[in-house]
Amino acid sequence: MSADKLRVAMLSAHSCPVGKLGTRDTGGMSVYIREVACEMAKRGHCVDIYTRFHDPMDRQIYELCPNARLIHLRAGEDEEIDKLEVYSHLPDFANNLESFRKQDGLRYDLIFSHYWLSAVAGSYLQPSWRVPHITMFHTLGAVKNRIKEEVFLSGSEDEPELRTETERCLVQACHRIIASTEKEKEAIVSYYHASQDKIGIVPCGVNLEQFQVLDRAQARRDSGFGDDRIVLCVGRIDPLKGVDKLIKALPHMRGVAGLKLVVIGGGDNSQHEVEQLRKLALGLEVEGAVTFLGPVKHEQLPRFYNAADVCVVPSYYESFGLVALESLACGTPVVATDVGNHRSVIRQGETGYVTRDNAPSRLADKISALLARPSSNTESALLIRASVSSFGWSQVAESVISECRLALTDYAAPVS
Ligand code: UDP
Repeated sequence: MSADKLRVAMLSAHSCPVGKLGTRDTGGMSVYIREVACEMAKRGHCVDIYTRFHDPMDRQIYELCPNARLIHLRAGEDEEIDKLEVYSHLPDFANNLESFRKQDGLRYDLIFSHYWLSAVAGSYLQPSWRVPHITMFHTLGAVKNRIKEEVFLSGSEDEPELRTETERCLVQACHRIIASTEKEKEAIVSYYHASQDKIGIVPCGVNLEQFQVLDRAQARRDSGFGDDRIVLCVGRIDPLKGVDKLIKALPHMRGVAGLKLVVIGGGDNSQHEVEQLRKLALGLEVEGAVTFLGPVKHEQLPRFYNAADVCVVPSYYESFGLVALESLACGTPVVATDVGNHRSVIRQGETGYVTRDNAPSRLADKISALLARPSSNTESALLIRASVSSFGWSQVAESVISECRLALTDYAAPVS
């Protein structure tokens, strides 16, 4: 391997990058890790992603693509466990990683950790490895708590002080932090007093080969949508995603013939939340207009985005918001709240609308405005897609590599 190629230990302790997307703890971060690792690997860098065994059937090592591996390590029982429980197994995770590394004679140039739990594991390893530690929080405990305080979210517990206090320490301990938006950078500075200089901004991406404009009529047939007007919502089922607000928007659109809301995401660990949403729809007498499809494999999603008339992201909080990008790459307009990177990926009035908040009447207004447009055809879909053509993962990986090099240079520089 040539000297300019990086050897990166990526840490994703709590969430498996090949886990079932759309379930409680597996979403955008897993997509991010997989895509960035493979794009870095394509450029000749070597990436090992470390995660816990989540299932006794997991093999220890999977090759994701040449130069990128996923490695499972023992840390607690080999099953899905609560995120907070993962915290107590992080010393084992780090020790097992160190044993694996020594046994295989591996050396890394840097640690790239994802989410506060992995950053804790990274900070256990960093002093003996003597390499820079870059982290990405993906979401911030302090921001989640502020939002939960502002809007009372039933079924949503506060992020524990353990998390917020640990994140505060991590911003000092890590050598570089990657934020996906300017807003996230500001939050890391204001809540945790991080130095501006150590934070780089790298927007997230979309796989432009996977998320394409398809034959819309065929996509509708394949998805079983018929002639209905389809409003699509994709994501983990979590109170912060605001799906209840979207259901409450439906009665405001009773005049739209054949309107259907299709919700993708959920899974075994979200049954209670889905049940609550079903009850809400029943109470509003819109239960016939709402379908919960459960989690859908990422590779099957392009067909659903193509079959939909509008995709809605009604979230209270997104650190970035991959779903909006995926929908736009498939040529389907988006209505999304003003969170994450929605404002910079959606062109107001052209490729969709960014709304101030997820008030049901506001969502309904903008969804109705998009549904009132002449029906989407391939030409209009291609125009929408063109608006996100600069958001490929290859650009993301290039920027991440630059951040890695910056961290290495800063780390090597003598302290003045
Ligand atoms: N996703 C999926 N199947 C599902 C639900 C979600 O593949 O059933 C994917 C979705 O396509 C997106 C990711 O999970 O790539 C969710 O990322 P986003 O940034 O929208 O939200 P997060 O999970 O990070 O809160």
